[in-house]
Amino acid sequence: MTPPPQTDIPRSPFTSQTRIRVPRKKTPPEVAVVNEDGCTGCEACIIFCPVDCIDKIMGETPNAPTGIVRIYEPTCIGCKLCVKACPWDAIDMYKTDPATGTAARA
Ligand code: SF4
Ligand code: SF4
Repeated sequence: MTPPPQTDIPRSPFTSQTRIRVPRKKTPPEVAVVNEDGCTGCEACIIFCPVDCIDKIMGETPNAPTGIVRIYEPTCIGCKLCVKACPWDAIDMYKTDPATGTAARA
């Protein structure tokens, strides 16, 4: 089942932008997942995502004093542009669980 679009999600603590998430047309074989231990919160990946599914998450970590990012997997189209954009190799592609449309982590 296609998850409903999320609306009114802040893009970043540094902006007031919001977005409307449109359901994707088909489930990709892989979706992107941020390695939270490797993410520095630089936000380089955010501008490259064509479907705007990467959010900045508030909260300090040892590597990310301004917070890390997280990917909204149900709308990720698996294009890997964020993987190429990340200067810290902190984004991995996971096989998609067809039942949920999100990363198969098991
Ligand atoms: S793989 Fe593509 S669609 Fe998915 S988060 Fe990365 S840039 Fe966005
Ligand atoms: S480009 Fe990489 S290090 Fe920077 S916010 Fe995105 S995932 Fe984190």
